Amino acid sequence: TVNLTDKNLLVIGLGLIGGSLAKACRQNKIFASISGFSRKAETMSDALSLGLVDEVSDDLQALVSKADVIFLAVPILSTPIVMAQIQPYLRNDTIVTDGGSVKGTVVKAGLELLTDAQLKMFVPGHPIAGSERSGVTAADEHLYIDHRIILTPIAETEPEAVQVVSQMWKSVGAEVDIMAWDYHDEVLAATSHLPHMLAFNLVDTLSKQSENREIFNYAAGGFRDFTRIAASDPTMWHDIFIANHRAILKVLDSYLDELHKLRNAVAVSDGEYMKFVFQEAKEAREHFS
Ligand code: NAD
Repeated sequence: TVNLTDKNLLVIGLGLIGGSLAKACRQNKIFASISGFSRKAETMSDALSLGLVDEVSDDLQALVSKADVIFLAVPILSTPIVMAQIQPYLRNDTIVTDGGSVKGTVVKAGLELLTDAQLKMFVPGHPIAGSERSGVTAADEHLYIDHRIILTPIAETEPEAVQVVSQMWKSVGAEVDIMAWDYHDEVLAATSHLPHMLAFNLVDTLSKQSENREIFNYAAGGFRDFTRIAASDPTMWHDIFIANHRAILKVLDSYLDELHKLRNAVAVSDGEYMKFVFQEAKEAREHFS
C-alpha cells in the first residue's frame, strides 16, 4: 500500500462529488492536508465552515504548486478549462485525477494540454456514485462507501500514479476498477446517460400534457422510482450529453428501434412479443440487486 499521510490533496470544484471526497478523506485522515478551490467564493467559505477541507484560497497558483494529488470535480465541459488554468503550475510529480462522468473529453484535454512528464501522472477517473442533489451542501462523507470507481489510465500513465489514486479511493471505502476510457464512455452511455435522458424526457412530456402538473398527484411508487433522476442538475447533464454524444446516439438509436417494435406489438396486441420482452427484462433485472 502507498502512504498518503504526508501528501496534500487539492480538490477543485467543491460540489457533491469533490466535496464528498474531501470530507471523507478529511474525516478518515487520509492525507496530511486537504485544500479546496471552487469558482464561487461563497462555495469555498461554505466548504470551510462545513469542515470539508483544511483550507481554501483563491490563489490557484499557490494551491497547485504545493499539491501532491489534484482531484478535478467540475462539470465535464469545464474540466479542460480548469486543466489549462492549472497546467503551468503543476510539478512533474503532481498527480492529476478527476471525477468527470465522460472520460473522452478529459483524456483529450490531458493529451492536448499536459507535458509528457505531466501525462505520466495523469489518471482520469469516474466514481459510480452520486445523487440527484448537487452543490457544496450535498457533500456526504459516506457517498463512496461500497461504490465502484472506474479509473481510465492512458498509455502514458505510470502505474505508480494509478496506485496512489486507487489507494485514495479504497481509503474512503470504494472499490476500484480499471477500464479503457472509450469503453467506459460506451458503458456509461448505456447504464447512466440513456436512463437520465428517458427520465428527463418522460417527466417533461407528461408535465407539458398536464395542466398544473395535476397528473403527478396520481403518480405511484413506480413512477417515482423511474423518474427520481429527472431532478438531477441540468447543467451537469447538458455537459454530459454534449461530451458523450457519439456513444449516446449509438445506444439511443438501438433503444428507439426496440421501443418501436414494442409500440407495434401494442398496436396489434401482439401479447406474445410483449410477454417475451417483459420476461427477458425481468430475468435480467433480477440478476442484479
Ligand atoms: P456540483 O454542481 O455539485 O459541483 C460542481 C462544483 O464545481 C461547484 O461547486 C461549482 O461551483 C464548481 N465549478 C464549476 N465550474 C468551475 C470552474 N471553472 N472552476 C472551479 N470550480 C468550478 O456537481 P457534481 O455533481 O459534484 O459534479 C462534478 C463532476 O462530477 C461532473 O463532472 C460530473 O459529471 C461528475 N459526476 C457527478 C455525479 C453525480 O451524480 N452528481 C456522479 C459521478 C460523477
